[in-house]
Amino acid sequence: MRLLALVMLVAAVNAKHEIYKGWKSYIVKPESYEQLEKLGSKLLEFELDFVKNAALDREGIVLVKPEYQAGFLKFLSEENISHTVHVEDLKAQFDLEDQEILKQEQRTRSINGGRMPYDNYQPLNVIYEYIDRIAEQYPETVTLVENLRSFEGRPLKYLKISRDNFQSNKPVIFIDGGMHAREWISPPTVTYAIHKLVENLTEPDLLERYDWILFPVANPDGYSFTHTSTRMWRKTRSTDQHALSRQCPGVDGNRNFDFAWNTVGTSNNPCTDTYAGSRPFSEVEVRAVNAVIEEYLDRMLIYITMHSYGSLILYPWGHDGSLSQNALTLHRVGIAMGEAIDNLSLPSFRRYRVGNSLLTIGYGASGAAEDYAHSRGVPLTYTYELPGTGFGTQGFHLNPRYIHQVCIETWGGVVAGARSAASIYGKK
Ligand SMILES: [Zn+2]
Repeated sequence: MRLLALVMLVAAVNAKHEIYKGWKSYIVKPESYEQLEKLGSKLLEFELDFVKNAALDREGIVLVKPEYQAGFLKFLSEENISHTVHVEDLKAQFDLEDQEILKQEQRTRSINGGRMPYDNYQPLNVIYEYIDRIAEQYPETVTLVENLRSFEGRPLKYLKISRDNFQSNKPVIFIDGGMHAREWISPPTVTYAIHKLVENLTEPDLLERYDWILFPVANPDGYSFTHTSTRMWRKTRSTDQHALSRQCPGVDGNRNFDFAWNTVGTSNNPCTDTYAGSRPFSEVEVRAVNAVIEEYLDRMLIYITMHSYGSLILYPWGHDGSLSQNALTLHRVGIAMGEAIDNLSLPSFRRYRVGNSLLTIGYGASGAAEDYAHSRGVPLTYTYELPGTGFGTQGFHLNPRYIHQVCIETWGGVVAGARSAASIYGKK
């Protein structure tokens, strides 16, 4: 009976990802500006989804729908753009990832009996149940806030964690996750931070010195959509931004903040993955993050937004690659974070790199959370690009057996950063 249930579950899982039937991904390597431009000019015609942007000297990875395979390949060979097939069958790859999640589920159930949002990729309801339970169980240190609802009506939930309900004016550390829906490793690192500050407090100095705000899933509509329908979805799910929004919903939340909005690394076309929206803060999910920044602006010392992947710690300014007045401290604290992570990391994981966003990843982006928070006066703002062991689409799906490892090392980075900042800024 149990075997039958398992077989049926696997069958149900394999029926998912139908949307990716016949899709392939390609590695493309443009060798001149002309080739790069030509590639860019075909974005809409072939509905190309670059999961890794191509640049000169840097290969990109692009998802291609079945109906465009022949045309896309013809274009690449006509233009002499070097390319190879990256994933032959995307649906099969996503099915395989689901099986890994099931295996991890069985593994962790035998260890802790429950479904913890930091030991596997969990659906939204499991993460929300965890947040609710923590708030209920620890009312003296934890406050649940859910002021706003997502475009599709889901609550936007975050936790405030404090020894004295934010009364003594301590500096605030704010961490969010899940703004980009497909970056599944991001929310677990935030729920794990909750775990480490509430259920398993081994660094009590962090609560002595700071008040914390932890927002694990900033884009719950997109996150749910990656679980139920389209694994590689990145944006929100709004349909009120553009005449085409019903066919092509959503806005890139990390391009929707009001800083140099829609000037670099964005698109005006709602069908692309980097659509910046009809105006800054058009997205309620982005306004929810901004509301936290605004509410604690005079106290917020560190803001971290969790993304994947690349093993990077990035700081402003990401739109033009210039350095802020606070660049030296941003770098010092960033290095402390990166070193702490590397010390806890696995030999097979890539070493972290720390630096200016644009210079480190090689392309600019405007309207990003890290830049915006810094422009509003938050002294230390970072984007973490968490590890991915594969590349291309596989990078977004770190094998779930590594989730716990990434949570532990990322928390180590946060701890080191908080302590480093405390030593630099002294007691407030
Ligand atoms: Zn991201």
